[in-house]
Amino acid sequence: MSAAEVLATPLQFLKGVGPRRAADFANAGLVTLEDLLYRFPMRYEDRSRLQSIASLKPGQAASLSGRLLSCGLRSTRRPGFKIFDAVVDDGTASIRVSWLNQAFLRDVFARGQHVVLFGPVEMRGSGGLQLTNPQYEILDEDDASAETIHTGRIVPVYERTGSVTPKMQRRLVHDALQTLPADLPDLLPDAVRLRLDMPSRYAALLASHFPPADAPLDQLNSFTTPAQQRLIFEEAFLFHTGVAARRRTAAAERKAVVPAVDDRIRESARRVLPFKLTAGQRQSLKEIVDDLQRPQPMNRLLQGDVGAGKTIVALLAALVAMENNLQVAFMAPTEILAEQHFLNISRLLQPSRFRVALLTGATSAAARREELAEIAAGSIHLVIGTHALVEGDVRFKQLGLVVIDEQHRFGVLQRARLRSKGLHPDVLVMTATPIPRTLALTLYGDLDVSVIRDVPPGRLPTKTTAKPESRRDDIYAFVRDQLDAGRQAYVIYPLVDESDKVDLKAATVMFDHLSQDIFPHYTVGLLHGKMKSDAKDRVMKAFAARNIQLLVSTTVVEVGVDVPNASVMIVEHAERFGLSQLHQLRGRVGRDTHQSHCFLLYQAPLSDEARERLRAMTDTTDGFVIAERDLALRGPGDFFGTRQAGVPTFRSIDLVRDRAVLEGAKAEADAWIESAAPTPAVLAKMLETWEQRFRLIEIA
Ligand code: ADP
Ligand code: MG
Repeated sequence: MSAAEVLATPLQFLKGVGPRRAADFANAGLVTLEDLLYRFPMRYEDRSRLQSIASLKPGQAASLSGRLLSCGLRSTRRPGFKIFDAVVDDGTASIRVSWLNQAFLRDVFARGQHVVLFGPVEMRGSGGLQLTNPQYEILDEDDASAETIHTGRIVPVYERTGSVTPKMQRRLVHDALQTLPADLPDLLPDAVRLRLDMPSRYAALLASHFPPADAPLDQLNSFTTPAQQRLIFEEAFLFHTGVAARRRTAAAERKAVVPAVDDRIRESARRVLPFKLTAGQRQSLKEIVDDLQRPQPMNRLLQGDVGAGKTIVALLAALVAMENNLQVAFMAPTEILAEQHFLNISRLLQPSRFRVALLTGATSAAARREELAEIAAGSIHLVIGTHALVEGDVRFKQLGLVVIDEQHRFGVLQRARLRSKGLHPDVLVMTATPIPRTLALTLYGDLDVSVIRDVPPGRLPTKTTAKPESRRDDIYAFVRDQLDAGRQAYVIYPLVDESDKVDLKAATVMFDHLSQDIFPHYTVGLLHGKMKSDAKDRVMKAFAARNIQLLVSTTVVEVGVDVPNASVMIVEHAERFGLSQLHQLRGRVGRDTHQSHCFLLYQAPLSDEARERLRAMTDTTDGFVIAERDLALRGPGDFFGTRQAGVPTFRSIDLVRDRAVLEGAKAEADAWIESAAPTPAVLAKMLETWEQRFRLIEIA
């Protein structure tokens, strides 16, 4: 078997795996032997220097090995709460070991077994020492190689994968490394690897799983040994090479019409502009308009915190396209938002000759037919809708620009869809979710990024406080004062899933209570995702027109909704929301010159993570700081909620930990592809394996 074939071996066919464990591996994203080898241990333990039990001190974590003298399950005074106790002896002394609430251990341990334990040493009430809830491994007596794989060395400790224990995985990885040839073909170009003085691929895999005796444990556990760094670099290099390849193929695309900008167009822009742009808006607009005038399609991300004023920038770009006889598709993530954009943009374009249409699920069939005909004929210049705009039956006469609002996840897939229709429009993606630099680099490696960092003049940072439920009455009193002063307020209820009946009921009960008992002399409205879209519309319009003073809503208002007169945001059960979501919600207020307030009501007790989230919110209103904290708290996997096509899957890279490597690898990859200058055919091939490798495409 060639090395490539060995690496591609499905895990199911490894000795000791079988269908059940293979399924557990697959659930964790591990399918082939290669996947397994590229999954780092979660930590390393030096079992060549196990501590003697006689030398243990309380307050430290210890690894030790010894024989089980006795063990058994014990009941406690708390009903149903059982403790599994054992006594372990290593010849120097013995120690009590306790596992709380893990009754199943009764079937795992037996007297006389040889065990390795890792856990915290604590002082017992009675004076002696005890190991509490340690991680454990039972060594087989009749396995001669156990001595060399599982003890007597620095051993890798893997995360448990379903039914696959860390010990099984250690054995599998060990055996797999034995079957691989030491001259395993390297994925890094020699020139790059040698210049950077990196170990070979095989040496790196070996030392990352079974480190040499002199490898420093702290380096291993921070994943900074040369072997580990090489594997992380390898993955980052391959990823960025693909990004660079995609840029090269994109550069070969040509727009049908390349817009030009002259004084007439500048004048037309001035006519629609209702205010003076901020410096950040001007700079971003310049970058966008420069792109528009290039023959290659634009792929640009416009980042700007909530309220930074992205819409007007997009509209001015749209104007450039329309003045060049091109049509514009403007997509919003929700119908509410599409409607809001439609109202705004129609108003702004009043002095121009351009015609705007709204196309959503609420558009009647007859109206839709008419609009489609006008779009196809080119007499409608700007179409606003949801993402269905580029997917359905809409045919443009000459589509020049696609603006995608508030959909940072809109990526590869939709752009590919446009290309497959033979369209190469300029694409502008806008997001108010500030994305940490490393994520932006990987997610949007093939996008250029413009950032609006300032906000329109006169805005005051929203004052944010986190309060326990018990302080509700003070807040209501405060809200009354604000409403009396002519302001409006939101009360947001968490509804993780729009079909969640229990939560929805809670939101409607809350609405009844607020409108009847708390704010009977004010107008209170209710908005949630289960409402029909014309009902939603009516409520949103009434709120925008100030006919509703207090809006009780689920997170349907989270993104983009703009009612500048609203100055109070109350988030119920704030502990249930993610940090980005809270930041988005807070962004609904503070959109005018009034001082705004955000109250995060929480239900005690708070988990540590929830407490951190609330603290981040009260500490800062800077979306970029919040994004970094969010990434650190949740990890990159969860950053965007559920996994989305277009978000790369990494095996060895941790986006938080490996930032520096990622950036270095990007520079190396760009330089390499520049010097290697692959042909279009090679590029196409590269991209095919690349998209699969990083699961960037949906496998249908
Ligand atoms: P976002 O970037 O969150 O999409 P919007 O485009 O909705 O922000 O703008 C937020 C509000 O600020 C809108 O009411 C808009 O009219 C206003 N606005 C935008 N830019 C400016 C500016 N330069 N000066 C004054 N108001 C502005
Ligand atoms: Mg917006």
